[in-house]
Amino acid sequence: MEQVQKKKSQFKIIRKENDDEGLIYLLDKLVICSRCHNKVNGHRILIKEEKIPVYRCRKHHKIRAKKEQFELEVIKCANQFFFEILNPTLSLFINECIQDEHNVFNRLTQQSQKKIQFIEERITKAMHRLIESGEIVNLPKQIQKDQKELEDLNRVNEEWEGKKFSAIEKLKLVEVYQKNQEQRIDKIIDEEMEDVLKQLLLCDIVDSIVLTEADAHVNFKHPHYQELGGHERIELG
Ligand SMILES: [Zn+2]
Repeated sequence: MEQVQKKKSQFKIIRKENDDEGLIYLLDKLVICSRCHNKVNGHRILIKEEKIPVYRCRKHHKIRAKKEQFELEVIKCANQFFFEILNPTLSLFINECIQDEHNVFNRLTQQSQKKIQFIEERITKAMHRLIESGEIVNLPKQIQKDQKELEDLNRVNEEWEGKKFSAIEKLKLVEVYQKNQEQRIDKIIDEEMEDVLKQLLLCDIVDSIVLTEADAHVNFKHPHYQELGGHERIELG
């Protein structure tokens, strides 16, 4: 559900990326200028009295690529990357990595919960002793220390619980993703697709594209396992 919401919000943003003549720039938000590191968005420029759609840095006019050709090249690489990440052996590997991640945090939270319980019991016992002795004006140093430690432990534990939970979520997403893509493994991004869908799929796996005068460096990421990436260089004609 969260994923659907995310896609929807992306969709809204993407709808605004059309230029005045209704053209959608598939790589908007992804392309970065190699010189100033600013985002390079698509727009039309006049070349020999013709308005040509390009990606061009607003500051560095030599950093540019013609829209159509550039997008086709990036899509070609993207399909190759999709093909690689959907390889069954790799899928297995990713699942195992996330499973390991989950196990680590599971062990950590179990340990910290035991410790939390131990300290809580120690505080309770000490408090009982204090109440019985009738001297509860000043809390002994040990109880103060324990309370501080308890606070820290609870905070860390919460963090680990979150990581454990997100590993489970990641695992679910990866499985759904793998299942969905299995049927269309030969070519994920198809020319016939709606531009908006192409754009969503590209955003799933392209982390950034660094544009120079001569070439473009496409940095890929796995949609649900960011540690796994790839790199491809495209020469600009
Ligand atoms: Zn620039």
